[in-house]
Amino acid sequence: MKNISILGATGSIGTQALEVIEANPELYKVTALTAQSNADLLIAQALKFKPLMVVIGDERQYKSVKAALSATGIKVLAGEAALCEAASLAETDLVLTAIVGSVGLKPTIAAIEAKKDIGLANKETLVVAGDLITSLAKQHGVKIIPVDSEHSAIFQCLVGEAVDTIEKIYLTASGGPFRGKERAFLANVTKAEALKHPNWVMGAKITIDSASLMNKGLEVIEARWLFDLNVDQIDVIVHPQSIVHSLVQFNDGSMKAQMGLPDMKLPIHYAFAYPGRISSNFKRFNFMDYPELTFSKADRGTFRNLDLAFEALRRAGNMPCIINAANEVVVNAFLQNQIGFLEMSDIIEQCMSDISFIATPTLNNYLETDQHTRIFAGELVTK
Ligand code: NAD
Ligand code: MG
Repeated sequence: MKNISILGATGSIGTQALEVIEANPELYKVTALTAQSNADLLIAQALKFKPLMVVIGDERQYKSVKAALSATGIKVLAGEAALCEAASLAETDLVLTAIVGSVGLKPTIAAIEAKKDIGLANKETLVVAGDLITSLAKQHGVKIIPVDSEHSAIFQCLVGEAVDTIEKIYLTASGGPFRGKERAFLANVTKAEALKHPNWVMGAKITIDSASLMNKGLEVIEARWLFDLNVDQIDVIVHPQSIVHSLVQFNDGSMKAQMGLPDMKLPIHYAFAYPGRISSNFKRFNFMDYPELTFSKADRGTFRNLDLAFEALRRAGNMPCIINAANEVVVNAFLQNQIGFLEMSDIIEQCMSDISFIATPTLNNYLETDQHTRIFAGELVTK
């Protein structure tokens, strides 16, 4: 029996993770669930899965969650600090980090310090402080098992391989809803158009990131830390069918790819079962449905975020933290109809040149950089 806590249980990843757990009650038990604002769903999940603890981020909803669960004996907490308690609960073996954004950083650190293995969906945490997180995990003997489909693919390809035999990796990108479009078109796209992803149904933030290719940029940085690669070993290839989830090229020229239907339950299922595999009844791939799998270059001139992310990784230090914080602000602003699609990259670039660069940041430097960048990007949004 594996005891699993889910941070961000009410989101796209969180709810799919609970489906995986529900299908395997003899293997997995839920120990803690957290949500920011969807109290009704959190309550329903708690009544069904009977965790030891739930955390509602929005403190105004504490009373109603507490009242709804009063007969159950489930411990109810509220607020940001309580996330760290949920992340480090003694009974838990694995923490699935399915919160969106850099707010996942502190609870991820708390989980690692409590020696919990991490199922990592919350890529922003690795983007912001990948050096700190990976060295802390090493220090505490904690495994970080990727849930992001591309990184799960690379991780699966590397089973049984020596890391020093990796020549390079290719992260596949669907290209999002605006693949093939030009800048003049992108200038006027709406939030509703950007939220229509061709292959995946996901939370709003990652869906916008997928449309702007920032998601792939963040994933490049995520891969650098998960697999200890240098920036020149990471490449991106557009693959609109999202069947080949990513590839590794080894030093003998051989390549391995991991494939499957685009369904996030697969990498979640793998992360939970790791180091083994367990059977599932997920729909199987049929070659006749996909007679053509195609690959092409990413259009970096049109989708500038990808180059900005590579540049942030090359400049290192707190630059990935800056790009992440700026991106969280502009995506939110785009979702509020405050700025246009292309302005997102402009503001990010401005933050990268104006926020103070720190070559070897401490955790506090990261937290301050995150705050400063949010304030500065917020000012640029309202200008
Ligand atoms: P989502 O928006 O659907 O869900 C986010 C979850 O985080 C919710 O449970 C919400 O309550 C919680 N949350 C939001 N803000 C919070 C805050 N300030 N404090 C505490 N909790 C907060 O997001 P998602 O699509 O499930 O994505 C979650 C993470 O997984 C992201 O980092 C994303 O990049 C990554 N990811 C998602 C997918 C996918 O298919 N959805 C695929 C790969 C990676
Ligand atoms: Mg991904």
